[in-house]
Amino acid sequence: MNKIKKALITGITGQDGAYLAELLLEKGYEVTGTYRRTSSVNFWRIEELGIQSHPNLKLVEYDLTDLGSNIRLLQSAQPDEVYNLAAQSFVGVSFEQPVTTAEITGVGPVNLLEAIRIVNPKIRFYQASTSEMFGKVQAVPQKEDTPFYPRSPYGVAKLYAHWMTVNYRESYGIFGCSGILFNHESPLRGREFVTRKITDSVAKIHLGQLDVLELGNLDAKRDWGYAKEYVEGMWRILQADHPDTYVLATNRTETVRDFVSMAFKAVDVALEWSGSADHEIGTCKKTGKVLVRVNPKFYRPAEVELLIGDPAKAEKELGWKPKTTLEQLCQMMVEADLRRNKAGFSF
Ligand code: NDP
Ligand code: GDP
Repeated sequence: MNKIKKALITGITGQDGAYLAELLLEKGYEVTGTYRRTSSVNFWRIEELGIQSHPNLKLVEYDLTDLGSNIRLLQSAQPDEVYNLAAQSFVGVSFEQPVTTAEITGVGPVNLLEAIRIVNPKIRFYQASTSEMFGKVQAVPQKEDTPFYPRSPYGVAKLYAHWMTVNYRESYGIFGCSGILFNHESPLRGREFVTRKITDSVAKIHLGQLDVLELGNLDAKRDWGYAKEYVEGMWRILQADHPDTYVLATNRTETVRDFVSMAFKAVDVALEWSGSADHEIGTCKKTGKVLVRVNPKFYRPAEVELLIGDPAKAEKELGWKPKTTLEQLCQMMVEADLRRNKAGFSF
């Protein structure tokens, strides 16, 4: 009989942690998921997926930045696979809190790698790396061997953790893998990220709960995929014969402005753009009402202008391929936000 596999997911209260837990439970894993000691723990994502009381799911309190916690966690959970998704993951905040971001997002994963080295070097390790490491892009599209040039404290911190994962692979033979994932979104995305901010605001405007959506740089281009498909890619990365680094992306890029138009289209509103730079506005073609406005307070000190990834290696070696189009993803997110805002709540 096959042994039941055990997985540890750090950051189960986040978007990817919730979807990955759902996937691994479906696959028959025993899952330990970590959450942080905060004044109000937020389990809304695993509740929305209906897995919070699953008999094979165990939730434990933990902080990535504490080495002892990492060692004790591995000793008690005894995982075969560790997915390190915990991070201070928001680029905007990383400019305000660079040191905290370095401690959590950069050095944090080294605590886990050290714990693996001490407790059981056979544990397979997934590190959540990011396209933000490419930053000021050196090639289009970006792939595994494109040079890095991070443009935010978040990107710099993630790059350190990425190279430490590679280093533990090469130095100690640890099955350490790095998934360089391009932006991936879903109805479970945090509202501080631009896609969810847009779909939540479009739903509120449609329901008469908000007048105008204010945004920063509308020209930034991103390669946006569906998070549920990307966590499946994470799992495939850890099932490979050899530990390696993989890009997961859709190979399509659109501007923030395009995503705003797409989201309004999902509620049958056609937008017209006028003005430029700090004064750009989006108006409803039918009524002439201003629905979108640029507010420079949302600009970043340094911007990543263009991300587009080439997932050919993941397709060839892992059989991974994105399926959901950006239009489908946007529609799904707007519908979820309409439902939530109609019911009077939105996380
Ligand atoms: P989220 O921000 O939704 O989730 C991050 C998780 O990390 C939360 O559960 C958070 O807990 C937890 N966390 C934060 N600090 C600590 C800490 N000190 N100790 C333990 N846990 C902590 O991110 P996503 O789910 O979107 O992303 C998952 C990972 O993938 C992140 O590492 C992110 O940087 C990376 N990534 C994401 C991309 C994306 O487009 N989504 C793209 C590329 C990489 P709490 O709920 O308490 O805050
Ligand atoms: P990121 O790619 O990890 O930084 O993901 P975000 O969703 O936070 O941002 C994507 C892009 O949208 C960045 O280039 C931002 O500058 C741009 N953007 C424009 N307006 C906003 C806004 O109001 N909020 C956020 N979060 N991003 C914005």
